[in-house]
Amino acid sequence: MKTKAEETIDIPIVRSIADLRSAIALWRAAGETVGLVPTMGALHEGHLALVRASRAKMDYTVATILVNPLQFGPDEDLESYPRDEAEDAGKLAEAGADLLYAPPIEEIYPEDFSTKVEVTGLTDVLCGVFRPVHFSGVATIVTKLFLQALPDAAFFGEKDYQQVLVVRRLARDLDIPVCIETVPTVREADGLALSSRNAYLTVEERAIAPKLFETLGEMAAAIREGCSIAKTVASSEAALRRAGFGPIDYLEVRDPETLALVDGPNRPARIFVAAHLGKARLIDNLAVTD
Ligand code: AMP
Repeated sequence: MKTKAEETIDIPIVRSIADLRSAIALWRAAGETVGLVPTMGALHEGHLALVRASRAKMDYTVATILVNPLQFGPDEDLESYPRDEAEDAGKLAEAGADLLYAPPIEEIYPEDFSTKVEVTGLTDVLCGVFRPVHFSGVATIVTKLFLQALPDAAFFGEKDYQQVLVVRRLARDLDIPVCIETVPTVREADGLALSSRNAYLTVEERAIAPKLFETLGEMAAAIREGCSIAKTVASSEAALRRAGFGPIDYLEVRDPETLALVDGPNRPARIFVAAHLGKARLIDNLAVTD
């Protein structure tokens, strides 16, 4: 017999599109709303915040776990990406998700799979430049998940801000009737944005990592006070390098809707950064003004 402390909360898991649709059809028939939370697993409090946001708004919440090969470049961490489905399932159950959809790759990409969803424009900048196949992989899997589950709403983290814009655009352009909800970035106490890839950091690198968000905060304050954006960016990049960061893919101030570069004051602006630290590539973003 299990003691109370050992009891685990379970969550139903479906692995096929047919089973996903049957489960959701039952809820729909009862007039209930459905929220979708797509993830790649290795779940942390950031993912669970999405589940909780869905639970708060929707009658039922479906979380998905799939390490989507299409969104990884040839030299990226597809093989080493952390995976622990049993642990993830427990976390999802505890956070109140109603169903876990964890299909095998073959269910999603049959051998002769040959269609891609490509969002242009928004993907020509920031991560799109450094990860050329990434957003088409994201757009393709997200479109498929939307069409498989047909949720009323889907929940995404602001941590991946460019991704949210891409997903909003594809839903609008392809007339997919899903409401895209965003959830603020969940951070460690020292400001580091939670990420499954933080697991790649050594103890020394982990001590340096919070400098990224700290720098964004300082930059936002300086720009609000009227400092030149170009000078602020240059000195902040130098500060990150001094702190121990490796290559900085980008540190840029852009329009929060169009992602056009912002170079002057009094315009809506958001700061975006991607920087390498050891084996990890950390990304973050922060609003200067709304
Ligand atoms: P991933 O598993 O990295 O593909 O992320 C799945 C979802 O969780 C995406 O919508 C992410 O933006 C979101 N997410 C990841 N990290 C965080 C975080 N620290 N705070 C809020 N949402 C997050």
